[in-house]
Order: sequence, then structure tokens, then C-alpha cells
Amino acid sequence: MNDTNSQPLKLFNSLTRTLEPFTPVHEGEARVYTCGPTVYNYQHIGNMRAYVFADLLGRTLSWKGLKLTHVINITDVGHLTSDADAGDDKMEKAAASSGKSAWDIAKYYTDAYWKDIDRLNIRQPAKWSIATDHVGEMIEFAKGIADKHCYELESGLYFDTSTVPDYGRLAGIQSDDIEGRIETVEGKRHPQDFAIWRKTPVGETRQMEWDSPWGKGAPGWHLECSQMSMKYLGETFDIHTGGIDHREIHHPNEIAQNQAHNCSEHSGANIWMHNNFLIDRAGKMSKSSGDFLRLQVLIDKGIHPLAYRLMCLQAHYRSELEFSWDNLVAVLTRFKRIVMGIERLKERLAASQDEKPPHPKLTEIREQMNAAMNDDLNSCPVIPLLEDLLSLKKVDAAQRMDLLREMDLILGLHLETLTRADLRLRPKSAAITEAEIEQKLDLRQQAKADKDFAAADAIRDELTAQGVELMDGDPLRWEWSISI
Ligand code: AMP
Ligand code: ZN
Repeated sequence: MNDTNSQPLKLFNSLTRTLEPFTPVHEGEARVYTCGPTVYNYQHIGNMRAYVFADLLGRTLSWKGLKLTHVINITDVGHLTSDADAGDDKMEKAAASSGKSAWDIAKYYTDAYWKDIDRLNIRQPAKWSIATDHVGEMIEFAKGIADKHCYELESGLYFDTSTVPDYGRLAGIQSDDIEGRIETVEGKRHPQDFAIWRKTPVGETRQMEWDSPWGKGAPGWHLECSQMSMKYLGETFDIHTGGIDHREIHHPNEIAQNQAHNCSEHSGANIWMHNNFLIDRAGKMSKSSGDFLRLQVLIDKGIHPLAYRLMCLQAHYRSELEFSWDNLVAVLTRFKRIVMGIERLKERLAASQDEKPPHPKLTEIREQMNAAMNDDLNSCPVIPLLEDLLSLKKVDAAQRMDLLREMDLILGLHLETLTRADLRLRPKSAAITEAEIEQKLDLRQQAKADKDFAAADAIRDELTAQGVELMDGDPLRWEWSISI
């Protein structure tokens, strides 16, 4: 680890409900698994918060000098409409209602998800592990634990949660309390027992089904993550992440399988981390509403996707974050000011020397950033630190630029390259093109030069009515006004 590690990185472990210093399993490395999307639909921006968080974690570990191996899975089979064992298979259901094949649905929404990953500048993991590519290995995993830990029912192979110690510890509840929270399947020995293999009902054919010792069927969702995480990261790896809802069922079930597979009380990952939810009082964070908030909806309004990333970074990942358009527009304005500050900083670079030792103010900012990130990835104070850095006009520009680049290794906001013009996205509702705006601005300039102020004002009014704000004296010249 580099000098940013003189103080330990502390992370909140949902298993122990405490902040714990991060100690890698393999010296100099960090191995992280993130529960990925179920690709039966688009991801909403709440889902994307989970990946911004995992990316922040990965970037911080890399910044600390650790060799990061990050794996994110794609659940293209096995997730039922309930997190327990009830409901339909989400993929099969989406296929039935759209008339497309489950495979086509999976491909389409995986591509859409990857596009959003890119637009949020989330770094590519070392491996995207696709569930359907691993079914044979999942069957082998299940065979290995079936005798001691599972029992067969008509509907599938079930994991007996009483065969592992401390089931439900992650959820922070006693196993008795779990009763009633999980929909029952006839014949289960305990309500919290779960399917690791779901048999295709007699007389039915699923689009996605495989032969197994328990009959034709599909793997349970929890089995996927146990098998793929340990395949790529080892039986004991560093960190497992997911949204806070996974703390209740999905991750306790993964832990139970890991314990069974490893014949150990250890849960597989040393640290289990969970991001809190993005919430929306208008109910737009629920896919069942049909009309949920996707990144594309933000873009269509003229909001740059990285403004959403900044919005996530402004809150601690363990806090609930309430979504509102007003908040998002305020974040975009803040982002534009930051980028404007960077544009000014770049102008000063030519006159810069960059030979002196680091300015004490910059050393202080770097230390404060390190302390904040060490405190369970507290990215919130890093944004004002960035603004402080930009306000230090008397400090050498090259030195400031170096620190800015370093800050962006963590923030991932494309700070060095983004311009205010890039942040100016054309709203879908705009009836005028950028070329037309520029043309009108030239006409207005000519009118002003001819001292025809009435004509110049008329052009301004016309543009205002079309959602364009003019900015006299600013090299950017104009901006879309965002109506929400
Ligand atoms: P899914 O595609 O439903 O499996 O969810 C993908 C990820 O998004 C999981 O890690 C969930 O825990 C997480 N998630 C779901 N809803 C939200 C939300 N509103 N805010 C933040 N994360 C969420
Ligand atoms: Zn998972």
C-alpha cells in the first residue's frame, strides 16, 4: 500500500455492525464481489447507486495501492419475483409478456445496463460473471452440499438452514423472527429454508432449463452468487457488496451455502457491505410501477449522468438518499461551477513551475481526503475539499492539477476532461438544435453591432421561449434551461 495507508481504511461490516480496519486476505490485494443486476428489465437509478458505491469502494482500494480484483455478476436466470421462493421467474415472466425469448431479454437489458455503467464512469470489473455460463458448476456446487445440507421436495432442492451455525446473523435477527417474513413452500422444514435448485414443474417447459440430478430446472438465485464469487475470488475473499435489501435474505442464504461448501463457520467474505437505498416519494423507484426512473430519463431532461454520480457521492453510501429533481438540478449547477473552476485552473497551467515541494495547503487537503475515505468511504467531504482546491488561486496550478487528478481517481467524475459544454445536454423536449441556436446568436450579435437592440431583444425572447438561456459575456454563450 502507498503512503495513503499510514492510517487504516475502516469499513462498516454488516456482519458485525462495526467499523473494521481493512486487512486483505492476500497481501497487497483486494478481492471484491458485487451482486449485479437481474436483467429482466432496465435498472433504475436506485439500482445504479449500488454500482456507484461498489465503484467508489474499488477506486478507493486501488488508490490505496491494492491490486483490485472486482467481480460483478449478471443474474440472467433464477431470480423469482419474490426474494424468497415464491412467485415466477423474473426472466421467464418478462419473456412471456414481451413475446421475446428469455435469452434475448437478458442480452438486451445486460447491454442497457452496461451502457449505464459506462455513462456513470463506473470502472469495468475484472470479470462480469454471467450466471447462465456457470450452471454446470452450480450443479457441481449443489451436489457437493446436497447430502449434508439439503433435502428434496417436489418443487426443488432446498437448503436446510438449521445445518449451518448462526443462520440469519447478517440480517441481525434470530431465525425465529424470520418466520412470517418468508412466503412458505409446502414441505419446507423451516420457513427460512430456500431453494438451491428449482425443478421445472411436471408438464411445463422453461426457456431456460438444464438437466440436473434433481430433474430439469434452474439454479436458485442465491446459489449463483456463492458459486461465482468463490470460483473467481477464492473460498475466503475480502469484500462482498450489495444493496441493503440483500442483507435480509439473499446474503444470509449465500453465507449459509458458503459455510456448507467450505465446511467452515466462516461466511466466505470477510466484510459484507451494503449501500442504503435511493428513495423517491413519488414511487418512481419501483420497477413494478412500469414508469420508473432510469438514467435515460435524467438524460432526456438534459441532466448529465455524471451529475447523478455526484449526487450519490454527496451522500454517505450507508445513508438513505432522497431523490428529488430540485436536488439533482442543484447538483448539476454545483458540478458546472466545479468544471468552470477547472477550466480556469487549466488556463493557469502554462505559467506554472511545479518544481517546489507540495504546498502545505495541498498536503492538508490530501490528508483530509484520505481521512474521509478511511472513515468508511465518506466521500461527502471530498467534494468541498475539491472546491477548496479550486479556490486556492495563489497555489501553483500544476500542483493543484496533480491533486485534482488524484481526487478524481476516487470520485470518477472525468474532472480533467469534462467541459461545461459537455455538461450541457440537449433535453429531449427541445424543439431547436444547437446549430440553430448558434445561428440565432450570430444574428443577435450582428443586430447588436448594428445597434438594432429591439431585434437583439426579440431573438433573446424567442430563444428563452425555446428553453435556451443566454449568457452574455460568458464564452459558453448559452445554456439549456432545465424544466423539471
Ligand atoms: P436487482 O437488479 O433488483 O437485483 O438490483 C440490483 C441492485 O440494486 C441490488 O444490489 C439491490 O440491492 C440494489 N437496489 C435495489 N433498489 C435500490 C434502491 N432504491 N437504492 C439503492 N440500491 C437499490
Ligand atoms: Zn448476489
